[in-house]
Amino acid sequence: MDETTNFNKTHDKITISKIPIGDLILYFRVKCKHCGHHRIMHDSIGKCEGVMNKPCNSGCDNFSPEI
Ligand SMILES: [Zn+2]
Ligand SMILES: [Zn+2]
Repeated sequence: MDETTNFNKTHDKITISKIPIGDLILYFRVKCKHCGHHRIMHDSIGKCEGVMNKPCNSGCDNFSPEI
């Protein structure tokens, strides 16, 4: 599956779920209690991948929302 197909499928799922895109953006912008990076920087299992080619130096592997 190429990236465009995946993008379109995800977009369809979001549309069906009726979750506003703005809500998703806010969700992924929540910061991590452990390392201070946004949710978007963490992978699907919660490991932080760092920002802008810089690895996360806190070694965070379990995203925890700062709320
Ligand atoms: Zn983290
Ligand atoms: Zn991090």
